Amino acid sequence: MAKRQLNRRQNWRIEKIQGERAARAAKREQHALQELEGGDLGPEQLGLVIAHFGVQVEVEAQDGDDAGQIFRCHLRANLPALVTGDRVVWRAGNQGIGVIVAQMPRTSELCRPNNQGQLKPVASNVDLIVIVFAPAPEPQANLIDRYLVAAEHAGIRPLLLLNKADLIDEQNAPALNALLAVYRSLGYPLLEVSAHHGGGMQTLQQNLAGHVSVFVGQSGVGKSSLVNSLLPNAQSRVGDLSDWSGQGTHTTTTARLYHFPNGGDLIDSPGIREFGLGHVSRDDVEEGFIEFRDLLGTCRFRDCKHDREPGCALLIALEEGRIQQQRMNSYRSIIASLPQETY
Ligand code: GDP
Ligand code: ZN
Repeated sequence: MAKRQLNRRQNWRIEKIQGERAARAAKREQHALQELEGGDLGPEQLGLVIAHFGVQVEVEAQDGDDAGQIFRCHLRANLPALVTGDRVVWRAGNQGIGVIVAQMPRTSELCRPNNQGQLKPVASNVDLIVIVFAPAPEPQANLIDRYLVAAEHAGIRPLLLLNKADLIDEQNAPALNALLAVYRSLGYPLLEVSAHHGGGMQTLQQNLAGHVSVFVGQSGVGKSSLVNSLLPNAQSRVGDLSDWSGQGTHTTTTARLYHFPNGGDLIDSPGIREFGLGHVSRDDVEEGFIEFRDLLGTCRFRDCKHDREPGCALLIALEEGRIQQQRMNSYRSIIASLPQETY
């Protein structure tokens, strides 16, 4: 008990210090903004948020003479929180610093719970979720289905990417083929590549062109290797980030946007690579299994849990082979993993 109280007191102290620090940063920020606004600002132009650091963002100019150049920007106070991928209207100040004056509507949002458990967007305007798996570590259908449900829930198109195709052999081929067959029959796009040997990488590049993608998947499937191969110069740009950490408020980088040399963008961060299913309801999960959609609401009992109820449309479809056993297993394991109150 005593220990717990101490912890609470410590927590309170930490929160107080953090609060004071944030307040000081906000004041500094407000001051910088006022100075900028008092000077000569350029005309309004379109920009793309490629990184954000607490109260400031890094914006790439989208048009005019500055197109492609990167500017650090302050945010006007009335703006909502911006995330990487946001399209904005901004005005250039002096010395490469600018002011964001408006946020354009988002076409999609990737959300994650923050430390306080509140769901917050971490990236916007993503339109392709590349779900990476490999012969090794052994693919977990259940995990792939979680990512698919998350993609469907966010309204973002998924692309299944089997990496390490060079490791396919007589032993693992049957199980892999069975797995791939399930997703092919559902109509999900599927590619096989080898980040190491280059096989299929050109086709992958073509599939990424014209999209804003994120790469997700279990640790060890080769996401870093893929990204490194697709973005040969990324390392130096990631290095830029340390320049920002001089002031306490700029240390947390949630995500960064990169341009693929052959077209298309990538939004990447360690957090996004693990983007999963922390925050969906039972209904969302059901909707996320695309082969369930037409059947939902047609079970005999309105509150059917599709477990062993008579007249369950999903169980009948399972028996008739319209739903595959592996997907039903995933569905059940995802439902079982949801927090109790969402049942
Ligand atoms: P991440 O955890 O998903 O980012 O995976 P990494 O990119 O760190 O890769 C995990 C391991 O798989 C490393 O040892 C890589 O060298 C290896 N790897 C990545 N891509 C390939 C591939 O195409 N073929 C083979 N054989 N190994 C690969
Ligand atoms: Zn049912």
